[in-house]
Amino acid sequence: MKLLIRHGCVINTEPHPTVHRNTDVLIEDGRIVAVGPDLDATGAEVLDATDRIVLPGFVDTHRHGWQSILRAVAMDVDIMGYMELVNGRFANQVGAADLAVAAELTGLECLDAGITTLQDYAHIMHSPAHADAVIGGLTAAGVRAAVAYGRPVFATDEPWRHDDARRVREQLLPSDDALVTMMLAAMGPSYHPMPAVKEDWALAEELGLRIAVHVGAGPESSTPIAALHAEGLARPGTVYVHGNSLPDDELTMIADTGGALSITPAIEARMDVGGPTLGRVRRLGVPAALGVDVVTSTPGDMFSVMRAALMSTDASGEGRVPAADILHAATMGGAAALGMADRIGSLRVGKQADIVLLRTDTVSTVGGHDPVGIVVNAHPGVVDTVLVAGEFAKRDGKLVHSGLKDVLDAGREAATRFSAP
Ligand SMILES: [Zn+2]
Repeated sequence: MKLLIRHGCVINTEPHPTVHRNTDVLIEDGRIVAVGPDLDATGAEVLDATDRIVLPGFVDTHRHGWQSILRAVAMDVDIMGYMELVNGRFANQVGAADLAVAAELTGLECLDAGITTLQDYAHIMHSPAHADAVIGGLTAAGVRAAVAYGRPVFATDEPWRHDDARRVREQLLPSDDALVTMMLAAMGPSYHPMPAVKEDWALAEELGLRIAVHVGAGPESSTPIAALHAEGLARPGTVYVHGNSLPDDELTMIADTGGALSITPAIEARMDVGGPTLGRVRRLGVPAALGVDVVTSTPGDMFSVMRAALMSTDASGEGRVPAADILHAATMGGAAALGMADRIGSLRVGKQADIVLLRTDTVSTVGGHDPVGIVVNAHPGVVDTVLVAGEFAKRDGKLVHSGLKDVLDAGREAATRFSAP
């Protein structure tokens, strides 16, 4: 199958965002095969991209997808209040059926907003059925996803399901090239004792999984990266999340050991996780990526995340982070953090056709001067078309999903089982 996206305002993001007006993108069998002016349309379906910005799909590098049924449930709490309510109470009430709906809803919410890849930090695996539900829900949505398999935070009486992680790796997610892949949501040294941390790292090593881990100055360690490094565990490909409270030398160690930092600026600001870090990691040369994290008090789209970065970094004393750097973190930076830089994150020829078209003929976008600025300040309502591996996930402003109404009904119903005190 051939698809030609014609006459778009193309923003490529590799190595850094650049704008190419009146440019075509040719897709064949799910991959980008050419980018340039006046490409040959022979045998191709033509998609007119006049009045459209064409860019790679956003990559959300940290999201707890199971919480789509907990939207806006904890608006006015800090991180401690969130932990108590969401992880302490609701996480233990989520059944496998709830989880299947939540995962599919999250996948569709992502696609609707132009997020074509997410890392789902699924620290909600109470049972094998829960793991199946997450994978099934994301697969049904059609989104590209790295499922980070994890133990519920406060379910300490449940045996850590190494055997189930092995089953998932061997039977369900054996490939690192598939649309849905596997990572490990590991217990980290900030919040867990080192013997438990080592067990998770050993499992990741055994199964050949990349690790995602929350880091900060925590009760177990205020220097978690150094603690990992001392044990020989600060391995390349690790996605460290937040890190707001870490000193510069800890962040630098992330870069020096081949890791990346996933920053979730909206939720970090709203829940007092810590000061903005994008300007700091930019100065330090740490690979940066962005994430939504949770929708319990902030929105689930990458525009809101980019805008939080745009605004919060200005006041951080690190200087103004350019909009292009923020867009890079939301696309190519995310792909690199997840180990997918060879497949997604930009419009380079040979990559998967994960592509988003934004309307520039709406009242909030028409006549805009800087295409990168338009993207960073946009909203999901101007997302016109979304492709994942060349397949339409959204077209003419509408999600392409035959069971959308059923998912919405099920999501509405599941949400009624969870209410804040
Ligand atoms: Zn998180």
